Amino acid sequence: MADFDCDLFVIGAGSGGVRAARMAAMTGAKVLVAEEHRVGGTCVIRGCVPKKFMVYASELSKSFSTARGYGWTVPEPSFDWPRFIAAKDDEIARLSGIYVRNLQNAGAELVHGRAVLKDRHTVSIEGKGELRAAKVLVATGGRPWMPDDVEGIEHAISSEEAFHLAELPRRIVVAGGGYIALEFAGIFAGLGVETTVVHRGPNVLRGFDDDIRSHVAEEMEQAGVHIRLGVKISRIEKGPGGLTVVCDDGRRIEADQVMFALGRAPHTKGLGLEAAGVALADNGAVKVDDYSRTNVDNIWAVGDVTDRINLTPVAIREGSAFAMTEFQGKPTTFDHEMVASAVFTQPAVGSVGLSEADARHQYGKVDIYLAKFRPMKETFYGGHSRAMVKLVVEAGSERILGCHVVAPDAPEIIQMAAIALKMGVTKPQWDSTCAVHPTLAEELVTMRDKHVPPALGQAA
Ligand code: FAD
Repeated sequence: MADFDCDLFVIGAGSGGVRAARMAAMTGAKVLVAEEHRVGGTCVIRGCVPKKFMVYASELSKSFSTARGYGWTVPEPSFDWPRFIAAKDDEIARLSGIYVRNLQNAGAELVHGRAVLKDRHTVSIEGKGELRAAKVLVATGGRPWMPDDVEGIEHAISSEEAFHLAELPRRIVVAGGGYIALEFAGIFAGLGVETTVVHRGPNVLRGFDDDIRSHVAEEMEQAGVHIRLGVKISRIEKGPGGLTVVCDDGRRIEADQVMFALGRAPHTKGLGLEAAGVALADNGAVKVDDYSRTNVDNIWAVGDVTDRINLTPVAIREGSAFAMTEFQGKPTTFDHEMVASAVFTQPAVGSVGLSEADARHQYGKVDIYLAKFRPMKETFYGGHSRAMVKLVVEAGSERILGCHVVAPDAPEIIQMAAIALKMGVTKPQWDSTCAVHPTLAEELVTMRDKHVPPALGQAA
């Protein structure tokens, strides 16, 4: 330590960096954390948290019509976007403040400014000079990736600006078919914005189970979102009446805002990792081993910057495992298997384990249990939204390899299912669990008949 100004220098005060810094500092180590934007990182400032507030605001529009079906008299509701944004910003500021206090209470020192590595131990902090750190943790996250082959892309926004629009657009085009694109499409549509998703792939939500993908697309279409698949945006024209999106099939879509959500890139550019000798993957992600250690033995990386599973709880667990290993003397790795995830579309998705296609690829014969139905909350007032539950089961061992749900509370349901799947639950054990009635989730434990795809069913 004599040769160094601190035991640990963390670059980035987001989900992974803050957790690692706090845990390391609580052992008595001297820890510094640099943040160039706001403490809390993507999740708190411009990701999960503000997004969820927007989802809550958006979902309420359906509640008004549902309430009428349940006997309420509801005056024509209206939505005040500036009031909502101001309230959202207040709450984000409060949460960011809690992160700052938690870091300080743990004994970590916060440094505002951009940090850049000069070599494997030397960090330069914008406007504050240089210091030498025994260990360095790179936790710089990711940033929206914008294409450079779309003429007029400067007229488009990313998810980062979507959180701060001065006014709610009347019409929006969302480019992309991933979870961020679909969540924002659902948010805007729920708030009454005419919303079109343009995605060049054959279906939305690549990487998820195919039945989930189709079901979500159908449900979103039914909720009023226009989904244009197999189409790419070629250019964006700005005119007096707003923007015109021109697609490669010649289609023209008028909009007030165009949001691109085509993916995110690891935040490593200009970070000095080359000077420090840190190896990067082709997409710029920091390469790490199971202990999040890079090829340089005093530098580690956690979270989105390593492009493993880009979710907040994963970044937190990777940061925690790093701190336990390096500062608590307890070598710990994070198991990236069976990590559940959610998509906050309307209806939402909850998913854990393998998709049917991946399970067939890895295990050969699998049994599928699938149910699509209108939940009783919908049937009562004549709503049309349908839920879907699906289990993917290994044929021989009867182990459940995947559980997938599309329903309003799917993210809450899947958290519990994830515990059972992580423990290696079999279908007989799952079925021995008594249903909770009347719930939507009871369908999960009452499916007894194997699903036969329609084409096979007809042939049989
Ligand atoms: P980040 O949280 O991104 O933190 C990195 C920090 O490093 C940033 O604050 C950045 O300003 C700072 N930084 C970067 N470079 C430097 C530098 N050189 N010097 C100083 N500071 C620097 N995940 C979920 O689990 N659930 C969700 O519902 C969800 N929704 C999302 C919605 C959106 C719109 C987005 C964009 C992401 C969402 N995510 C969600 C993903 C989640 O936000 C990330 O996985 C998580 O924030 C990753 O944490 P991290 O610590 O790796 O990086």
